[in-house]
Amino acid sequence: MKILVVGSGGREHALVWKLARSPHVTQLWCAPGNAGIEQEHLEKNGERAQVVSIGPEDLPRLLAFAQEKKPELTVVGPDNPLALGIVDLFQKHGLRIWGPNQKAAQFESSKAFSQRFMEKYGIPTARSGIFEEPAAARSFAASLQGRCAVKADGLALGKGVLICASLAEANRAIDEMLVKKSFGTAGAKVVIQEFLEGIEISLHALCDGTTAKLFPTSQDHKRALDGDQGLNTGGMGTYSPAPFLNESDLANVRRTILDRWLRGCVSEGIDFRGIIYPGVILTSEGPKVLEFNARFGDPETQVYMARLKSDLVEVLEASVNGTLRNVELEWSPAAAVCVVMASAGYPGSYMKGKPIRGLEETAAMTNTKVFHAGTSRAGDQIVTNGGRVLGVTAWGEELRSALAAAYAGVEKIDFDGAHFRRDIGAQALA
Ligand code: AMP
Repeated sequence: MKILVVGSGGREHALVWKLARSPHVTQLWCAPGNAGIEQEHLEKNGERAQVVSIGPEDLPRLLAFAQEKKPELTVVGPDNPLALGIVDLFQKHGLRIWGPNQKAAQFESSKAFSQRFMEKYGIPTARSGIFEEPAAARSFAASLQGRCAVKADGLALGKGVLICASLAEANRAIDEMLVKKSFGTAGAKVVIQEFLEGIEISLHALCDGTTAKLFPTSQDHKRALDGDQGLNTGGMGTYSPAPFLNESDLANVRRTILDRWLRGCVSEGIDFRGIIYPGVILTSEGPKVLEFNARFGDPETQVYMARLKSDLVEVLEASVNGTLRNVELEWSPAAAVCVVMASAGYPGSYMKGKPIRGLEETAAMTNTKVFHAGTSRAGDQIVTNGGRVLGVTAWGEELRSALAAAYAGVEKIDFDGAHFRRDIGAQALA
């Protein structure tokens, strides 16, 4: 089977790595991919995964490529192409593709859509309001004493959420979005949510339109620095499982979040085939959803692919075909950890092109896999090419041994200005 993967981050490297292990896969392309992806070999025939220099948002060229090479399945990693309607476009041309269509992708592309949906279908979420008028937004923020999250409705490169601790901060955030329009049309409408206290976890479920299969829990670390300090990032590290929910909590999550979400999708005529990934805070009143993402998390995918025992091709096929109810997702009982190594300055501005040393040494380590994110090849060197550069991923019988292995990998790797968090998994160990 020939497969095209769209995207270039650590998530896509993890997907390519897992797909390459499937006996079904005979040819694999990734557009645009990265320096780690092009080193992957297919287990079936030893062929290399090929990178294709087409950006994930260049839908016309992706379509032309797929029409020429005829992959039997295209797998979409990032949110933007989904929001742009890549699934609808490919389907219109008779090409099989995995991911939510444009209507279904609204769970991520419009926070206002998601918020209204959660309220309509009784999914536990933060107290919130949706505003286009600054005055109304300010008075709602005042009713929360300014302790709130001000969110641009649309996609804003992961930067559209401003967490506020005072009314002055909230008013500034509202001003940025609704008056100064710093977030462009994405911020022409805002969702303001009360600030929720508690542990944040990531849920993932694979869906086929009518069935949703919940993954094990994981936890991301969004802030740049240890102790959850510093700016919000795309994610600095993950581990799975996250030990904060017992069986009865999980049953509660299934009933109040997943089942209600699925029922809502069916009654709204939303045919969701892909990953639904709610960000959840475990509050003293129970789990509450902050937002929905409509694709695999990055770096959650890295730990999920390390733990998934099922054939990824078979489960994605079941999601596309609407036959998930017949499939059991099998997971390794191992704990998995991913530590992200980032460029100096990330999530602000950073330099590219720094040579990366130590990748060969980590390749020889057992139970460890270094997933590339922002890397590229310069002659015979691999160099940095993004904010998040690598996701050093390792697994072990329990969290402590997985963490020790991941950090042993990190110690072997070096590039100018590399920074990473030293406290991945600390909440679980505490
Ligand atoms: P989002 O893109 O909506 O997930 O927001 C990005 C991050 O901001 C989340 O992962 C949380 O860490 C934080 N956040 C968002 N909304 C809230 C909220 N209502 N209360 C507390 N933290 C929040």
